[in-house]
Amino acid sequence: MRVPDLDPTGEHHGGLPTHPWRYDPSPDLLTRRQLRAAGLRPGGQEPAAQVGYLYRRSLALPVRPMTEARWRSHHRMMLARRTCALCRTVTECCIPTSLGCCLPCADGLALAELEELLALARAVPA
Ligand SMILES: [Zn+2]
Repeated sequence: MRVPDLDPTGEHHGGLPTHPWRYDPSPDLLTRRQLRAAGLRPGGQEPAAQVGYLYRRSLALPVRPMTEARWRSHHRMMLARRTCALCRTVTECCIPTSLGCCLPCADGLALAELEELLALARAVPA
């Protein structure tokens, strides 16, 4: 998307109304993050406009409560994001997605070597 885009009818964006950054077209149009801050989720609706995607507050649904199973799933996902694919060390912070491994493993490796090692690591189950 070009930056100062004002296309309120969506004529140039496949029918999706498009607004420039920091333009506030309607109090009913919120980003996913703004919906979340209001305790809401998109609830299956398609984006109604874009700065990024904006969703209609009037069609949004309440956030689903966290169950034990959802927490377990969340913790497994976060553990995977903190586990180095190469040395299997669990770090305090998430592994940079740009590297795919912890900093000590990436240190001194060329990008091609790193990608080769990561491909090998992915081929072997954890
Ligand atoms: Zn590592």
